[in-house]
This record gives sequence, C-alpha cells and structure tokens, in this order.
Amino acid sequence: MRTKRYVFPENGRTPEYRTQLEEILSTGLCPFCPENLARWKREPVILEREHWRIAHNDHPYTNALFHLVLIPRKHVETARELSPEAKLELFDIKDWAEETCKMPFTLIMRPSSKESGASVAHTHAHLVAAGAEPVITRI
Ligand SMILES: [Zn+2]
Repeated sequence: MRTKRYVFPENGRTPEYRTQLEEILSTGLCPFCPENLARWKREPVILEREHWRIAHNDHPYTNALFHLVLIPRKHVETARELSPEAKLELFDIKDWAEETCKMPFTLIMRPSSKESGASVAHTHAHLVAAGAEPVITRI
C-alpha cells in the first residue's frame, strides 16, 4: 500500500524549502493540520477566522509586497470539499486584506496536488499583493 503524502518536496521553490519539505515528508504528518501547524510554520498566524487561519507565507513569491497563506482549519485537499460557509469566508478575508492594506490582492488557489505544483496537500489559498515589479509565482 502506498503511503499517503502530505507534502511534495519536488515543488518547493527554494533549496531550503525543499529540505524542510523532505523533513516533513519523513514524519508522515500534514504540516497544515492544526495540531502540526506551529511545528513547521515560521510566520505566526495573524488572523483566526471560523474556517481559516491566516499567516504571512514563510516562502513569499518573488516581488510580492504581501504574501499571505490562508489555511483551512479542517484538513481538506480540494476546494470542492470546503463548506459553502468556508468558501464565503475566503472572499471575506480577501476583502479584509484589501481594506486593511488599501491595495488589491490576487487570490490564488490551485489544486493541492503534486501535478499542480503545490507543495502541501492540505488545500490552501494565497493572497498576494504586487509591489513595483511583477510577482513571480514559480521559478
Ligand atoms: Zn492537513
């Protein structure tokens, strides 16, 4: 039987991040589940909502002025598994970021699979504000 993978080190954007993902992979744990989040997440959670936790991304995209990662409290691996309330709250959080920072944010939510380029299987979203240069989401 194949062991469940919660991370995809091959999709880490930097050598440091790939090394961290290899370490997480060796534990067999999901780094975004609530009981494990503090173990590997360097940036603290800055906002707690009913369905989501929000923190600055530990590995921000190049040229991003702000790069927040939004993590559902419940372990789900696709956006389709989110409750209607969680989906609504996601856009509420985008509004909060834009009102707080007085600038537009891009909401990015890709399938949480190795093939999509995700690094963590626990679905999550990115809220990114651009600076003066175009944001690079992948190198
Ligand atoms: Zn999880």
